[in-house]
Amino acid sequence: MNENKFKEESFEDLKINCKKCFGFCCVALYFSASDGFPNNKSAGKPCLNLQSNFSCSIHKDLRKKGLKGCTTYDCFGAGQKVAQITYAGYNWKENPELSDKMFDVFLIMRQLHEMLWYLKQALIIQTNENIKNRINNLITETEDITRSTPDYLMSLDIESHRDGVNALLRQTSEFIRTKILDGKKTNFKRKKTIAGRLDCIGADLKKINLKGADLRGSFLIAADLRGTDLSYADLIGADLRDADIRGANLKDSLFITQSQINSAKGDHSTRLPKPIVRPASWEDNTY
Ligand code: SF4
Repeated sequence: MNENKFKEESFEDLKINCKKCFGFCCVALYFSASDGFPNNKSAGKPCLNLQSNFSCSIHKDLRKKGLKGCTTYDCFGAGQKVAQITYAGYNWKENPELSDKMFDVFLIMRQLHEMLWYLKQALIIQTNENIKNRINNLITETEDITRSTPDYLMSLDIESHRDGVNALLRQTSEFIRTKILDGKKTNFKRKKTIAGRLDCIGADLKKINLKGADLRGSFLIAADLRGTDLSYADLIGADLRDADIRGANLKDSLFITQSQINSAKGDHSTRLPKPIVRPASWEDNTY
């Protein structure tokens, strides 16, 4: 099999597929109107726009109506896994006695699928065979867990599993960035932080060399990143809401997600890595 094709296919199950889901994110999650959702809603309560067939009545107009939160959310394919595999097609509406547990399982599954997304990215970029084998083993272990019963998923020590994943992701990031930088330093020296996370809110970073930079968990909200080269910059958990990435190169950025890209402002000249799809909102400027 062509290697690039393999890489793309390995992400297929981690992509959102609302048609095979029972609208879990529109019910299980708590959300607030101030975060770009339709209204303040408690967890477990269906959104008013969720239809009986589990589709959204305003799906085509979400951006126009200012409901950005709905368009940036990504379950990493956890919704369809819980609907079709864990609960074999049984839905929460016809089986209300299962609903609470189903929603809790969905929240656990989303975390596991998010870990798989990052681990699969790590597997592609890592060149150290020893770390690569450990990543492979953890992918297999995590995939096995996602196919287990609701009771097993509920009893899982997710924090400890996440710690193991994070350690490998960090090792991969450091290994790759050290290799790429090859002793050279970036001229990125920002020290300002919020709760231990780098504060780049609204910052003009256009002229900063960000190649290979450690931007893990940083606040890049509304930052100006136009035309920047973010190759091998670690963006895991970075908040890119309204960050201007028009003309930026993220093709080889580390640990980027569809949700981050959906929340940023890009255009046709923004370079994106393979599993990421260019958001439709970039075409018609409905950021
Ligand atoms: S507005 Fe639509 S996509 Fe957003 S939570 Fe409600 S049903 Fe889901």
